[in-house]
Amino acid sequence: MASPDPQPSPSSQRPMKERLRRLWSYFKQYRAGWVLAIGSTVATGITEPAIPALLQPLLDRGFTQGELPIWMVPVTVIGLFMLRGLTQFAGQYALARIAGEGMLVLRRQLFDRLLTADLTLFSRQSASQLANTIVYEVQNGASQLVQAVITAARDGFTVIALLAYLFYLNWSLTMIVLVLVPCVAWILKVMTRHLYKVTRQSQVATDELAYVVEENVLAHRMVRLHGAQGAQAERFETLSRRLRDLALKATRSSAATTPLTQLVASVALSTMIGIALSQGQSADGRSITVGGFVAFIGAMLMLVAPTRRLADVVNPITRGMAALERGLDLMDSVESEVDNTSGAEQVPQRAQGHIELRDVSVRYRDDAAPALDGVSLRINAGETVALVGPSGSGKSTLVNLLPRFVQSSGGQILLDDVDAKSWPLAALRAQFALVSQDVTMLNDSVAANVALGASHIDRDRVLACLEDANLAAHVASLPQGMDTVLGHNATELSGGQRQRLAIARALYKDAPVLLLDEATSALDTESERLVQQAMRRVMVGRTTLVIAHRLSTIEHADRIVVMERGKITEQGTHTELLAAGGLYARLQNYAG
Ligand code: ADP
Ligand code: MG
Repeated sequence: MASPDPQPSPSSQRPMKERLRRLWSYFKQYRAGWVLAIGSTVATGITEPAIPALLQPLLDRGFTQGELPIWMVPVTVIGLFMLRGLTQFAGQYALARIAGEGMLVLRRQLFDRLLTADLTLFSRQSASQLANTIVYEVQNGASQLVQAVITAARDGFTVIALLAYLFYLNWSLTMIVLVLVPCVAWILKVMTRHLYKVTRQSQVATDELAYVVEENVLAHRMVRLHGAQGAQAERFETLSRRLRDLALKATRSSAATTPLTQLVASVALSTMIGIALSQGQSADGRSITVGGFVAFIGAMLMLVAPTRRLADVVNPITRGMAALERGLDLMDSVESEVDNTSGAEQVPQRAQGHIELRDVSVRYRDDAAPALDGVSLRINAGETVALVGPSGSGKSTLVNLLPRFVQSSGGQILLDDVDAKSWPLAALRAQFALVSQDVTMLNDSVAANVALGASHIDRDRVLACLEDANLAAHVASLPQGMDTVLGHNATELSGGQRQRLAIARALYKDAPVLLLDEATSALDTESERLVQQAMRRVMVGRTTLVIAHRLSTIEHADRIVVMERGKITEQGTHTELLAAGGLYARLQNYAG
């Protein structure tokens, strides 16, 4: 994997207050939800001491003196639990709703960033990393965080309510409980910090592990052919071990938290029982009734479970925050494409297709030779220009410059005599159709793939395009014709069929400039003949830039431009170049 890029200060390095405020901004919109959530969690917490409180009079008077009517007991108990059921349900629902709304906004923002991101993002991050962050991490983060907040809020209020009740019953005993709280809080604080760090590390390691699997799925044939299984297994093993160690590290700190807090609690608990017993035996009027004592012990024991849950709540909160923040970090690290949206009046709806490059250079990396080095080239409207040259000579870079998939680091590119940087991106890109070696099809119907980007699918036109692309017969044989859904990246189509589908897509777009980047390189001769035929149809009346590996396919171009190490070394017609006896002639000889 590429070395990690320096990202603009990741969330974990910023102050906690700022981080919380940032997260809060996503979850604060749904006001009514917060009112309901807080109201019902408070109510749930407050009704908790009602159970021991009911017990006390019952024990002190109810059974022995019969002051209370019998029917009141079940009515009160059932009523109490109905109320608690209602508030618990409402609280849980409201918080889930808050999480849902926040996640919706965050996800949409992330996906919008993906759609408008500067294209360098896609060489920095793999598809699986991006999918993982946008889909899974946001979801896990939000649901873990909210689940934890639900627990923390309900148990927090429960603890407060129970403590208040304990104070009311016997303040001196309750003081001991208060010694307990700071001890537990301190333990939690230390553990949280450690856990957060480990959690971040293990998320990064998980990503890397997934990346190894992805790579080995994609490259399974090459790995076997080269006998690289051993090295790959070792790579996987190393990462797996690191992940295991991190998981154990995280478990050590989270698993130690509960026993430690319980130990502190048990010491306090036994002291309290001792004091309660001595008070009960004293004859100074402060003695505790049987009901009071049972209620106190009951409420105290009820305190243990929510306190323990509160101690455990730290883990999902830190995990959830870390996951959500990785989404935010992604958003911060991504720059948007530079666009001149105000330039719409200066440019034509449909370009003539006249292209000019003036001394254009492209550098992908500062430490490498430029991919294009001072290239100047004029292409007339309607002309077919072929780019030829050894691999790595910059042909694809030149083609990718035109729809601004690649940014030039020097020089000027003009379409219809207007600087490409003055064109609004959308208007500029509307002028180009591209067929490359690695066309990607979307998991949608044939018709939707052909009419990609169109607001309305013109079925007659789709059919005509499929016919011109030599694909109509095959599509007709599919179960639902052009409405057949292709599946992920249309894997059931052959290479030639996919290429022809891409050509149909280019035909449908009907753009004035056509870019063909090794559109036939991966095909066998038979498929190539069909694709060639289709390509010749699509080239009619358009400015065409064609890169082809097989020189036979470009002999008929109006002009052939030969490139070498990012420079144009010769140009002319097929016959002229053969006569000149340069690189083109030599390449022809190899091919022959
Ligand atoms: P061609 O299409 O003629 O084979 P390219 O235009 O693809 O050549 O590549 C020209 C040079 O730029 C090569 O040295 C290649 O390694 C480099 N290059 C191409 N794309 C990238 C990229 N996204 N990041 C870094 N270097 C790149
Ligand atoms: Mg190329």
